[in-house]
Amino acid sequence: MNARTDSLTVSFDAPVARADFDALLAPTYVPSEIVPLRARGAWVEDTQGRRHLDFTSGIGVTSLGHCHDAPLAALHRQGEQLWHVGNGFTNEPVLRLARALSSLTFAERVFVANSGAEANEAALKLARKHGKARHPGRTRIVSCLQSFHGRTLFTVSVGGQPKYTEGFEPLPPGITHVPFNDVVAADAAIGEDTCAVIVEPIQGEGGVLPARRDYLQALRRLCDERGALLIFDEVQCGLGRTGRLFAYEHFGVVPDILTTAKALGNGFPVGAMLTRADVAAAFAPGAHGTTYGGNPLACAVALAVVRTISQPAFLERVRAVADRLWAGLRALRAEFPALFDDVRGVGMMVGLVLAQAHRGRAKEFTRIAERHRLLALMAGPDVVRLLPPLVVGEAEVDEALARLRSCAVDFAGAAVPA
Ligand code: PLP
Repeated sequence: MNARTDSLTVSFDAPVARADFDALLAPTYVPSEIVPLRARGAWVEDTQGRRHLDFTSGIGVTSLGHCHDAPLAALHRQGEQLWHVGNGFTNEPVLRLARALSSLTFAERVFVANSGAEANEAALKLARKHGKARHPGRTRIVSCLQSFHGRTLFTVSVGGQPKYTEGFEPLPPGITHVPFNDVVAADAAIGEDTCAVIVEPIQGEGGVLPARRDYLQALRRLCDERGALLIFDEVQCGLGRTGRLFAYEHFGVVPDILTTAKALGNGFPVGAMLTRADVAAAFAPGAHGTTYGGNPLACAVALAVVRTISQPAFLERVRAVADRLWAGLRALRAEFPALFDDVRGVGMMVGLVLAQAHRGRAKEFTRIAERHRLLALMAGPDVVRLLPPLVVGEAEVDEALARLRSCAVDFAGAAVPA
């Protein structure tokens, strides 16, 4: 029996602190001691009044910076008008969003979901339906080792990181994992039984690893030859992160299905699956759905985000500021060759790869960065990941580079664990 009080005595507004986390929330995360209170642009203020330079964008989400005027205005406007209708109705924001996304990409049909995992779940289910309609045995999904596609049981099983599936067995069958960027392995794995190949054009959680152009082109050719669909998971690398609206534009390869989320809502939960009409046709009415998918509030926000990010001048500026960041990071690497092996990624999706002697210490680096009031991420144990807001200013880039340099000095001086 859990009810210990009634609503008249619940502490709805009593003060809370980081120390309450373990007692109140399911133990799925170990949050930082910093508790953000408010934020604007690239700056986060915490409950202690300290200001942090945010080079995480909430893991690639607040790409327009915190509380950007365009989605904020859209949220206010739509919030006064209509929040929700249910899937028995359509609404103007979802129609406008779908029209914008299809005008800006290869896609002709859009399914709107609430997260990246759900966008991928839709993509994978669609691929199974599409494959089975052609041949009952065409059900296999080929995916890459070290990939990450979400945390639903299907998407986490398709993701190529066993640490995330441990203890959740039995896992859905019909999934084959291959090494990323390995054409020979893909050639051997993709067969007549394959309904889809799913790949991140730039692996995010796996370590900020860009696919090689010839690899994605080979996947396209193999899928075409063997009747499989090619799915690009652009949940992290899409929507301007690389300096193009979608990362596939860098590679000269067009997927059959593309998934997007994270930056799509700039912090409002929304995701989408984009595809062609002939592929979408495998989903008959009733085949898939979600209560909130296509919700007017989320779609109004997403429309404002897409409208802002897709401006050519916006993307041009992202590329220019990214060049400045890269120049600074290369200089940092040159100054600390014993700490960093490589700087890799594309545009505003960057990984600083720790040198052999410091492997496994990425988390420690981010903790040091916190002390310098710089928010940074890890991408696996060996890579420090930077995902600054796309609107970051040149002075803020310079400031982040100065703070990273201080971190590198501290990190080099810290004891290397045995
Ligand atoms: N796909 C990729 C490439 C991601 O990076 C993530 C999240 O990090 C997801 C899917 C899952 O998205 P969500 O956490 O919104 O479900």
